Amino acid sequence: MVDVPRTADFVIVGGGVHGASLAYHLARKKAGRVLLIEKKFIASGPTGRSTALVRRFYAMDFFTRTASAAAEVFRHWKDVVGGDGNPGFQQVGMLVLAGPDKADHLRHNALQAQKLGAGVTLISPADVKALVPAANVDDVALSSYEAESGYADPSSTANALVNRARELGATVVQYRHVDAIRTAGGKVVGVRSEGADVDAPVVITCAGLWADRLLRALGIEVSIKPERHQMCFFRRPGGFGVHPAVADTVQMTYMRPEHGDLTIHGKLSYDEIVDPDSYNESVDPDQIVKNAELIAHRFPVMEHGLAMGGYSGLYDATPDHHPVLGAIPPYAGLFADFGWSGHGFKHAPVIGDILSDVILHGRSKDYDLSPFRWTRFRENDLVPSARWTAEPHPKHRF
Ligand SMILES: Cc1cc2nc3c(=O)[nH]c(=O)nc-3n(C[C@H](O)[C@H](O)[C@H](O)COP(=O)(O)OP(=O)(O)OC[C@H]3O[C@@H](n4cnc5c(N)ncnc54)[C@H](O)[C@@H]3O)c2cc1C
Repeated sequence: MVDVPRTADFVIVGGGVHGASLAYHLARKKAGRVLLIEKKFIASGPTGRSTALVRRFYAMDFFTRTASAAAEVFRHWKDVVGGDGNPGFQQVGMLVLAGPDKADHLRHNALQAQKLGAGVTLISPADVKALVPAANVDDVALSSYEAESGYADPSSTANALVNRARELGATVVQYRHVDAIRTAGGKVVGVRSEGADVDAPVVITCAGLWADRLLRALGIEVSIKPERHQMCFFRRPGGFGVHPAVADTVQMTYMRPEHGDLTIHGKLSYDEIVDPDSYNESVDPDQIVKNAELIAHRFPVMEHGLAMGGYSGLYDATPDHHPVLGAIPPYAGLFADFGWSGHGFKHAPVIGDILSDVILHGRSKDYDLSPFRWTRFRENDLVPSARWTAEPHPKHRF
């Protein structure tokens, strides 16, 4: 086990994919002594439970740009990140299906994403059928398709980033809890971890579901609701091979192939709020039945599929379902990257790059993080929905 150093230049709290990415980028930029502290093991939180879709298109420019840039990192990992790690990226393609009520918004948002260079095209229900003959498209009016999107292995991704950070000089300590962020005179001075002080002028909280606890002690209130999301596995019957990932906004579900002949399937939203330290990590029997019905509607051949159980993971949901990113005033040296509310995996390789620039140089050359400041919640200046079929909103253009 690695000992906790008593001093560092940067302490990152949390070894999910965001803490891992930040550690990698700070180490890559030779920023100084980087220390990542994780209370369990790397990717032990929601990262390890992620469906890990890697896709490129949102209704909001910021996320289209970060997702598209990150998707290219996943596709060219060896050349860009290097090291022995492999994020397990599978380029199966990605479909978003919309019914007549949402088709106009999907069209509007996809055309804007195209302008930004995202690899997305609009296709007809007949094109969907040609791509996936097993699909029922009777209730689909329009679809988007990303040929170069797919999914990755979330735990392998976080570990690939952490291992690369280690190779570049970062220290990674697992099985150590950060109990408090220490401050003095309006500045961060380090953290306290299981009775030991680590002195550091910069602390970044990448603590996901648990970030609110560390910040509350500093008078910073951000609501993080742990939302339980149930994911079900279904075995595809013979003859139904690998299919693209599908976001089905008609039924409000999504799915993607999993190893072998499995498909993983869940709803786009759930509303059960649980205790992140003690919750039902399995899937409810009636949820499996519900999901079996939904998947068989979209792929009728799945009536002959087999339910193979499932698991639950948690979203760290903020009030607007968007992250808290950047500096956390009033404390000099305190930064945040948490609250991704269920859509953070894909962006991580690029957000670490952006945030490390903000930490080292005060700003990112290409991205404005100010809409994601923590104070937006108390100012009631929330970020609108960035879903594919979200109603167009002026705040989508930044
Ligand atoms: C079922 C499911 C499906 C998903 N599907 C997708 C998807 O398809 N695409 C996508 O982009 N995103 C998806 N997501 C969301 C994505 O997985 C998350 O947004 C992302 O993994 C969050 O990473 P993170 O590093 O911010 O947080 P986490 O993974 O929560 O990591 C935070 C870490 O901090 C540690 N920690 C917390 N407090 C402390 C402390 N005090 N001391 C030390 N360590 C601490 C925790 O142990 C944890 O390991 C999904 C999530 C779930 C649950």
